[in-house]
Amino acid sequence: MSENETARGKWHPETLAIRTGIHRSPEKEHSEALFLTSSFVFDSAEEAAARFAGTSPGNIYARFTNPTVRALEERLAALEGAEDCVATASGMAACLTTFMGCLQAGDHIVASRSIFGSTVQLLQNILSRFGLETSFVALDDLEAWRRAVRPNTRLLYLETPSNPLTEVGDIAALAALARDQSAILVVDNCFCTPVLQQPLALGADLVIHSNTKYLDGQGRTLGGAICGRKELLSGPRNFVRTAGPSLSPFNAWVQLKGLETLALRMERHSHNALALAQWLEQRPEVARVYYPGLSSHPQQALAARQQRLPGGILSFDLRDGQAAAWALMDAVEIFSRTANLGDAKSTITHPASTTHARVSVEARVAAGIGDGLLRLSVGLEHVDDLRADLQRGLEAAAAARPEPSV
Ligand SMILES: *Cc1c(COP(=O)(O)O)cnc(C)c1O
Repeated sequence: MSENETARGKWHPETLAIRTGIHRSPEKEHSEALFLTSSFVFDSAEEAAARFAGTSPGNIYARFTNPTVRALEERLAALEGAEDCVATASGMAACLTTFMGCLQAGDHIVASRSIFGSTVQLLQNILSRFGLETSFVALDDLEAWRRAVRPNTRLLYLETPSNPLTEVGDIAALAALARDQSAILVVDNCFCTPVLQQPLALGADLVIHSNTKYLDGQGRTLGGAICGRKELLSGPRNFVRTAGPSLSPFNAWVQLKGLETLALRMERHSHNALALAQWLEQRPEVARVYYPGLSSHPQQALAARQQRLPGGILSFDLRDGQAAAWALMDAVEIFSRTANLGDAKSTITHPASTTHARVSVEARVAAGIGDGLLRLSVGLEHVDDLRADLQRGLEAAAAARPEPSV
């Protein structure tokens, strides 16, 4: 075992997030170096030939490797407890790279119905044209996963907790199902980050990230990553090198700096979200709150087993539907009206008219995404200020209630 690997085994996430993946240049800079270069030079014709032949280590071209991108890959691998990591240009590039790198025409995928909208579109409308078929099932219905599996099922795919209703998937149980099937289990760990949940330790084969969210943490850059065993990542790495959804070194550098504060941020996101969830649950305007940290959450015990903390995302249903939800959204002053999440800034979204507007009304209602549902990504502002902002919003929602007919 190398010295670095021994350190990874001993260190806590807080330390891994700050101290892994550091390769200082001869200048001995303290902060991580940004190698803003698309290509690298060779000392001789012979050296060039050796690099291309793979007999001499070193960088050739930034679509293949770049030291700043590599530093981020090493740090994310350490945090996820993975052997290796492949960085990509965005979270969706990580999804595409996983499917293209691990599957072939004729393969079948079973995916949770409650996954990111663009991932659904990618599977349903794009990869289906290239011979990859997907069955969608309810995240928390293990029997449905078992029934959906076929002899050619090669990949199971989920996010947990889900967006926006925070349903929780049983990673260990689905990993066992995947193993029985000689399929791989892929978990999009975007909502929890490795600080709160480590799917590989629960038996998953690959973890996907949208670095755009909590890993950057301040809404500056796009990025993605895939973590897992080196051998399983050889297909995805080759896809990135050849097809080109590579992460920009500048974005990798921003995300490396973001990771230094990840553990601190995730604790505060969770702390603030729990306080708001508990408070919202007591409010008469609110019909229901969805948050894995509440005792009213049907899977609180499972969430507590596989997550260190419940996380920063919560949703709630207003009794008076869309008029109330829109009135609340328009009345808040701190929460940003934007679909992004995982930012230091708190955000508020009306899923039925934005992120889930392309879903048919019947499918949306069947999925439990009603017109009165609002999703919060709870940020790092003071929780008292956030609560006061929602109080103002709830008063506006109450005033928007239609007059009872006489
Ligand atoms: C945002 C998001 C993605 C896509 O990531 P991009 O960086 O926007 O491409 C994938 N999965 C989840 C859960 C997300 O929230």
